[in-house]
Amino acid sequence: MPYELDKTASSFEQDFKEFLEARRDSEQAVDEIVAAIIDRVRREGDAALLELTEKLDRVPLSADTLRFSKREIDEAERLCERQTLEALELATERISDYHRRQKPEDLSYDDATGVRLGHRWNAIDAVGLYVPGGTASYPSSVLMNAIPAKVAGVSRVAMAVPTPDGQVAPLVLAAARMAGVDEIYRMGGAQAVAALAYGTESVAPVDKITGPGNAYVASAKRQVFGHVGIDMIAGPSEILVVADAENDPSWIAADLLSQAEHDTSAQSILISDDADFLEKVKRQIEVYLQRLPRSEIAGESWHTHGALIRVGQLDEAAELVNRVAPEHLELAVAEPEQLAAHIRHAGAIFLGRHTPEALGDYLAGPNHVLPTGRSARFSSGLSVLDFLKRSSVIQATETSLPAVGPPAMTLARAEGLDAHALSLAVRLGLDKQGD
Ligand code: NAD
Repeated sequence: MPYELDKTASSFEQDFKEFLEARRDSEQAVDEIVAAIIDRVRREGDAALLELTEKLDRVPLSADTLRFSKREIDEAERLCERQTLEALELATERISDYHRRQKPEDLSYDDATGVRLGHRWNAIDAVGLYVPGGTASYPSSVLMNAIPAKVAGVSRVAMAVPTPDGQVAPLVLAAARMAGVDEIYRMGGAQAVAALAYGTESVAPVDKITGPGNAYVASAKRQVFGHVGIDMIAGPSEILVVADAENDPSWIAADLLSQAEHDTSAQSILISDDADFLEKVKRQIEVYLQRLPRSEIAGESWHTHGALIRVGQLDEAAELVNRVAPEHLELAVAEPEQLAAHIRHAGAIFLGRHTPEALGDYLAGPNHVLPTGRSARFSSGLSVLDFLKRSSVIQATETSLPAVGPPAMTLARAEGLDAHALSLAVRLGLDKQGD
């Protein structure tokens, strides 16, 4: 059964701390296996990649069939239903439009000494996008990763998707084409991450790898980090709903289950000031669990990690929300903006009773790749900025260098770096020994 906590109870602080600290990630000793796979792909290239793909995904491939051809993607598109493609197109437009607004401006100004300062943004050259394919197939994840990269100006987006037993969801390929993905490879797991990071004869290396995956993928991303960039290590999904008693319990129950159905480790939390309302939602969840196709997953998630928290007053919810730092936060209350003003840590905030989190998963516009596991305390969702880097720009002149050069020389000497001081002194005519 879900956790049931009451903020008005004397044991609340202890109970809430234990709840926050409960682990949801299953421990898996995969690091050694993954290190060996990465090492093999680095040393043996295609030979290792193809052999591991045959062994782990049961697909015999050659260097010629590793990459999906244009004809295969055309064929996949033909297999998709027209209505689904139209919805995907709408999602592509809305996500693109939102992300275009994230593009930052370059900066340039002359400071008081006349030195010109600023920065310029440039896109990363090549990005690898991992799309999980083992047990799940999420075309929406393709859009959410590829579109910001393309909006940022990344010229090469290479996608890796495993095709267990040769199977792939046609919609995943259609989404990749729609989002502007340049290359799609039939490869998965640690071997795909290694191929993208280090390159093989058939896969050119990339500079950054993004996208979710299972424990093998997560471990591989951690291990190649430094040689390439990575986005984040996504943990199980979370939703926290703050709701007053004016809500229809069935709406809130559905929202809680929409996260629970992702994964048995997902977490759904409801905070309310009304004990009856909490009870009604709890009952409605059990009713829905009788009929949902993924009720086994959703039920295990809800009964193991779910929580119902009663607070004395709704405005006490903000402090608890900030301590949870949820990936998704719904504020289903009369004045959501007022409550939102006190929220500091949340990946995405959904305001009001008519904004279910599922809208954000698909086509509201903002990215659905969000910080999990309380990492919203220090990070944000995926954005165009993740595919750009910034070069700072400095320009001193004959007239401005004398204002800032001498103190820089002083600091260089204080650090014992005489060549640093000299490079300034020669320009300022202060190098007496060189004369
Ligand atoms: P996956 O593509 O992540 O992993 C499949 C690959 O795992 C295989 O190709 C294989 O190479 C590797 N693998 C499997 N068993 C192995 C073994 N014994 N040794 C070495 N390698 C092995 O697909 P999946 O397994 O279905 O996992 C999908 C994951 O992605 C889930 O954990 C899901 O929760 C997560 N996901 C998260 C999000 C998100 O946004 N957070 C979205 C979609 C999926």
